[in-house]
Amino acid sequence: MDDLASRLAQSRAAILERINAAAKAGGRPSGSVTLTAVSKQQPDERIEAMLAAGQRVFGENRVQEAQARWEHRRGQWPDLELRLIGPLQTNKADAACALFDVIETLDRDKLASALARAMDKTGRRPRLFIQVNTGREAQKAGIDPGEAAAFAERCRETHGLAIEGLMCIPPEAEPASLHFALLAQLARDCSVERLSMGMSADYELAARMGASAVRVGSALFGARPGPAA
Ligand SMILES: *Cc1c(COP(=O)(O)O)cnc(C)c1O
Repeated sequence: MDDLASRLAQSRAAILERINAAAKAGGRPSGSVTLTAVSKQQPDERIEAMLAAGQRVFGENRVQEAQARWEHRRGQWPDLELRLIGPLQTNKADAACALFDVIETLDRDKLASALARAMDKTGRRPRLFIQVNTGREAQKAGIDPGEAAAFAERCRETHGLAIEGLMCIPPEAEPASLHFALLAQLARDCSVERLSMGMSADYELAARMGASAVRVGSALFGARPGPAA
């Protein structure tokens, strides 16, 4: 193995170990937390190294960037699981259904009906998470926490969509634990089991507090290069 491959394999092993320890500390069974490797903006050689290390679940925040990175790799890695963790425009619903196995950012009726149509059209039914704007931040996507349960109900009854879980991105300036606890409470109100929460800075806390998937980018791959890093 070259330096990069062994460095990333070690980074992944260490993070998996910390996730498992945190889940255990929260009284949760080992293996109950999926590591989503957030590959957005990461260079190709790091993607290849992460695949070689055994990682199969990847998160991306833009449809086009994800197509460029993953479409040609599908054939080679049939057990890939691709998760959309960034905002989705309705005009990209078909493309998102065609590429992703999980869409975590469902947050409005217009998108729910676009996804229902896209599923019929493409014949693919990605698993769905509702994004909740737990901090009620104006600039952030996600449904208002007060509307989450009614929206989940409409997704099922009006749009005919199965909802698997909830996702949140806590405000940077607030303790993440408050938002993780709120998301867990809302999941009960919405009758869903899964929680996508926790990023590089707080994935252990999230694993302890009930996350079924944590989304880790920079702590796993290293900092995202370029001006957008
Ligand atoms: C980029 C991103 C992440 C990963 O962020 P890191 O801090 O690099 O771990 C997680 N979730 C979402 C929604 C993101 O956009």
